[in-house]
Amino acid sequence: DYKVTGVQTCALPIYMIDKTKILVAERSPLSQTVLHSMLSNWDFDVIVASDGVEACALLQAEAGPRLAILDSKLPGMDAVEICRRVRSMSRLDYLMLLTEKSSFEELEAGMDAGADDYITRPFDWQELRARVQVGCRIVKLQERLVRAREELYDQATRDSLTGLWNRAAIIQTLDTELARASRVGSSLAIVMADIDHFKQVNDTYGHLAGDAVLREAAQRMSSILRKYDSIGRYGGEEFLIVIPGCQFDDSLAVAERLREAVSNEPYTLFDANCLTTASFGLAWNHFPDSKDANLLLRKADGALYSAKRHGRNRVEVFESASAALAS
Ligand code: GH3
Ligand code: MG
Ligand code: MG
Repeated sequence: DYKVTGVQTCALPIYMIDKTKILVAERSPLSQTVLHSMLSNWDFDVIVASDGVEACALLQAEAGPRLAILDSKLPGMDAVEICRRVRSMSRLDYLMLLTEKSSFEELEAGMDAGADDYITRPFDWQELRARVQVGCRIVKLQERLVRAREELYDQATRDSLTGLWNRAAIIQTLDTELARASRVGSSLAIVMADIDHFKQVNDTYGHLAGDAVLREAAQRMSSILRKYDSIGRYGGEEFLIVIPGCQFDDSLAVAERLREAVSNEPYTLFDANCLTTASFGLAWNHFPDSKDANLLLRKADGALYSAKRHGRNRVEVFESASAALAS
């Protein structure tokens, strides 16, 4: 029931040059073959399914096709249900229904369930090609928008020198983790770190070398943290580390590992090696204590100041946390 006429291979528009995956979910083996051959000729990477459950699983897969032609009468799971399920995942797929000309109810139900377009049988290959091209353009546009949004998010939350969270983002993380810890009654530690005598590094080796030391110190500290811990650049040569769900003595051990990571090996600069240390202030809270982020930051800052005063390259703890350990 297809009108396959004329030459089906023609020059493709620029936006279709890299192969786009397309799912053809079709109950009839003959239609599958025809659609497969047409779409392959138009340079799509065609994936075929003859069953609704299989089609739905393919669309829901992480790297699955984003563009689909769905026979409205698929066995297993019908196209309306597939559209509903895929839409409920807030995916950006472009779903096209392949319906019988007479079946308006089917069409209406499909469009209500989130289908983007429909083609009625018997379809003309030129019309199919035009519609698939529209779908392809929309899928690519959506992908570009998502990428642009991710890039903007990255720019807004990342520190450009070190790649760590920036100040606003790490404070946001602290607020979120404080709220979570207080809700579930767990503990939270924060560590404030400051590179020692960093002005001397700049003065001796130059500002670019100083930048390289900051990047490397940031990398070394990140590498020893667990995946649920967060680290951000709090200021010029200051870092804030948020450690959720950690007992006091474990968080003290983390701070000590951070100190060792910064200081244990020389930093390779353009034409020199230099050793650098950092000082650390730890504040630990077990909830339901205060949820005040500023208070916790002030405690960590106080402990850091104390570490500086007592000779640098050391970890100091806000005193009420030591009391918690003793109790
Ligand atoms: P202390 O041990 O007391 O912390 O001494 P310090 O020299 O590290 O502290 P101070 O606050 O006097 O100096 C911090 C220096 O960090 C001064 C500033 O130029 C430098 N700095 C801040 N941000 C950057 C940066 O992005 N790159 C470089 N290269 N240096 C930076
Ligand atoms: Mg400082
Ligand atoms: Mg410093």
